[in-house]
Amino acid sequence: MSLVIPPGSTIGILGGGQLGRMTALAAANLGYRCRIYSPDADSPAAAVAESWTSAAWDDEAALRSFAAQVDVVTYEFENVPVRTATFLAALKPVRPGPQALDVAQHRAREKEFLASIGIATPGWSPVRSEGELSDAARRIGLPAILKTARDGYDGKGQVRLREAKDVSGAWHAIGGRESVLEALVPFASEMSVITARGLDGEVRSFPPGTNLHSDGILATTSVPASVSDAVRNAAIDCGARLATSLEIVGLIALELFVTADGRVLANEMAPRPHNSGHWTMDACRTSQFEQLVRAVCGLPLGAVDLLTPVVMENLIGSSIERWPAIVADPNAKLHLYGKAEVRRGRKMGHVNWLGSSP
Ligand code: AMP
Repeated sequence: MSLVIPPGSTIGILGGGQLGRMTALAAANLGYRCRIYSPDADSPAAAVAESWTSAAWDDEAALRSFAAQVDVVTYEFENVPVRTATFLAALKPVRPGPQALDVAQHRAREKEFLASIGIATPGWSPVRSEGELSDAARRIGLPAILKTARDGYDGKGQVRLREAKDVSGAWHAIGGRESVLEALVPFASEMSVITARGLDGEVRSFPPGTNLHSDGILATTSVPASVSDAVRNAAIDCGARLATSLEIVGLIALELFVTADGRVLANEMAPRPHNSGHWTMDACRTSQFEQLVRAVCGLPLGAVDLLTPVVMENLIGSSIERWPAIVADPNAKLHLYGKAEVRRGRKMGHVNWLGSSP
């Protein structure tokens, strides 16, 4: 029996944001159909997919009907409840599997898993009470950064502590939720590596990029990354180890800090396409979205050669108003997500500046 899910089949995508939108567009290029499942009726992904289901994550009747209409399920959002993914996995292949979600959804589990496969992280300690936070601050030292164990993204759910008197305020600011305290890393740069793993276990990492964040949100990714070959190879090695040990079928993104002495420390992972991989749409032989489709459908992975140096710039909030100038620039490849409402901090689109050096 062939394990290939051929063109013409339907890919179910959990989550309706821009990552699902770009996955659906890549899937359509290869002749696949997509069905989106999202609790939000207003979905950038549903706008370009053949069909969609708008229902809650725990609506078993809707999930069962969704599963009946698709051949394979993937996700574009790592906070899809593990129960939802597990429920669907009993009906159709879910790729990557629910275990990857389970690890990626909880910062303490994520760090424990990374340590178990020999990937270093900043010093950290689990925190479940104000007293534990005080102890952790003493053990790890300040400054440090308190992050909620769950539901953090784009710098949300994070508070910095500079001195011991910040403990109480930080604990309240985070809502007294289960958290981790992390040593603040005086990093030289931040980078990420996105790794694909096929159904046959083949692993391919995209060239790593250097990331700049502003207010906790990714601002730009430059490729090639401005790091030594040793650091680049260390990042690729971490990505491959992670993809293999989590038995990913699909993509896994790993964000890393690079220290002044050339060490890489893992910050966080996401088993899905990643914002720092959007440059692949125009500057790589295979885009991350096509690679995801190839992997989950059991096709051979595509080549990941860099075609040209590139800087991906996110268009956040009102910066989307720059689109007329961007679209007129011959070096710019503009991608807009079709979101009607502009909000501060909202990702509205991105531009890949081709030929740019970091
Ligand atoms: P996160 O949501 O955990 O990816 O954090 C968002 C951004 O905050 C990171 O990309 C860094 O720029 C910064 N940050 C997070 N954790 C640390 C840390 N332990 N040390 C220094 N900067 C950090």
